[in-house]
Amino acid sequence: MRIDLHTHSRVSDGTDAPATLMRDAAAAGLDVVALTDHDTTAGWAEAADAVPATGVALVRGTEISARAGRMSVHLLSYLHDPDDPALVAQLLASRGSRDTRAQDMVTRLAVDYELTWADVQAQAQPGTTIGRPHIADALVAKGYLTDRSAAFERVLSPAGPYYVRYHAPDAVAAVGLVRGAGGVPVFAHPRAVLRGRVVGDDVIREMAGAGLAGLEVHHRDHAPAAVAELLALADELGLFVTGSSDYHGAGKPNRLGEHTTDPQVLARIEEQGRMPVVRP
Ligand code: AMP
Ligand code: FE
Ligand code: FE
Ligand code: ZN
Repeated sequence: MRIDLHTHSRVSDGTDAPATLMRDAAAAGLDVVALTDHDTTAGWAEAADAVPATGVALVRGTEISARAGRMSVHLLSYLHDPDDPALVAQLLASRGSRDTRAQDMVTRLAVDYELTWADVQAQAQPGTTIGRPHIADALVAKGYLTDRSAAFERVLSPAGPYYVRYHAPDAVAAVGLVRGAGGVPVFAHPRAVLRGRVVGDDVIREMAGAGLAGLEVHHRDHAPAAVAELLALADELGLFVTGSSDYHGAGKPNRLGEHTTDPQVLARIEEQGRMPVVRP
């Protein structure tokens, strides 16, 4: 069984429609895929509708934006109740803050680039969780850069003058929020050092104390030494280990199924989650 537990559709910063992503997952030889768009469940229904035709089982999830101090933390939640009021309110607040922040970044960028908020909106359908990738796409569309990766390297980096932060809940609180909604919380790419500063083991221990279920260890942004350290930490804290692609369609080089998760881990996720896996 081939299981990929971290993907994005165009409901956030992926480029595929959810149904297309399901077809791509079938073509990539996957048996199970999790759709985990940033701060939203808006793609769940379309992806679930595609399960019978594609024969790929769907784990409904969300990648929740959080923080530890000034450091960004991404928390995957699997199989939570999409109508849980506390979680719904938090995701709404995060998406709102992302919109404001993206507009602030465009204001800064407009000093040096011919770029408007409408240009960025043109890169995303209404209701999409807006992120830097959409700003990158707008800069690419205007011919300033060749692709998203170049935009991130040269213009949109947190170290650069155009970067603005957005509001997100504390990572330990987010773990509680996910558990409260019947979700299974897994720390996404905890040692992805290229994205910015990463949290120390102390934060992961605290999150484990609050109910964290697993660590996404096998991920292309992790160096071999980081994988070894995370495996040891997961073992010590009694956390399970996942592997995933973090597929974003054409937006990133990540390919579906480039890392996968053990079926026994999926069984544990399904035991702990409130919602069922959608099976063909
Ligand atoms: P944001 O959450 O708006 O700050 O943007 C971060 C998102 O940008 C991440 O979720 C990634 O999907 C994406 N991203 C980060 N680095 C890159 C990169 N080098 N190339 C393309 N996309 C990236
Ligand atoms: Fe993303
Ligand atoms: Fe992420
Ligand atoms: Zn992701």
